[in-house]
Amino acid sequence: MDLTLLGTGAPLHPNRAMTGMILTAPGCAPLLVDTCGGFELAHQLSRVGFEREAFRAVIVTHRHLDHSGGLLDLFLARIPLEIYALPDTHDGIVGMTNASFPEWDLNSEIVRHEVVHGAARDIAGFQVEFFQAEHRVPTLGVRISHGGSTFAFSADTLPCETIVAAARNADLFLCDTLCAELDGDGAVNRARSTMHATAREAAEMATEAGARALACTHLARFADPANILAEATEHFTGAVSVAEDGACYRI
Ligand SMILES: [Zn+2]
Ligand SMILES: [Zn+2]
Repeated sequence: MDLTLLGTGAPLHPNRAMTGMILTAPGCAPLLVDTCGGFELAHQLSRVGFEREAFRAVIVTHRHLDHSGGLLDLFLARIPLEIYALPDTHDGIVGMTNASFPEWDLNSEIVRHEVVHGAARDIAGFQVEFFQAEHRVPTLGVRISHGGSTFAFSADTLPCETIVAAARNADLFLCDTLCAELDGDGAVNRARSTMHATAREAAEMATEAGARALACTHLARFADPANILAEATEHFTGAVSVAEDGACYRI
């Protein structure tokens, strides 16, 4: 199973795209998890050498635009899609589409699948389980398995037991890490108020889950990646990396 990161930044980041990723594996169709923040999806897909027409299955973790916005790119390209999301996220996607392109004729082959915390689905050949995150709007983390390997993505979240469960013994845990405590009280306060984890908290969740490797993502413009790496390494003994746009992980 291979993971390709399309975007690893929080909103307003000057040089990271917003959250999106692609999972591929032998015998599986490519799976898009979150969609970047809008029309930047086209640029990010081309950067990593994927055609947008290659995707049919899309998981959207929550309605925030930095995760759902790229659906507009896919809608305007009239790609047939299977979209997996919470009911609240589907509502957000409909609202975003109606607010932006109310006159646009969507592809009739767009199927909206509602998933909730605890749901397990076979999507594009992957086994996917959904876990409730703790964020400002209803949000799901995902645990994705294939061929004996497991990948977990926290989505946007404060530290919580359900996301630890999602990451249990995962080969790679990609975790929301808005900033490090080393970035200062102002940064930590922003993480608290916007309901994101810090590097220490991401590392503690990875430790509690027994994950083999941790990748820190969703970095704020005020976060120093060197601080995130140092702080996460201090609190997690497995492999730690700071995610970068365009990076690939073999899981
Ligand atoms: Zn969010
Ligand atoms: Zn976000």
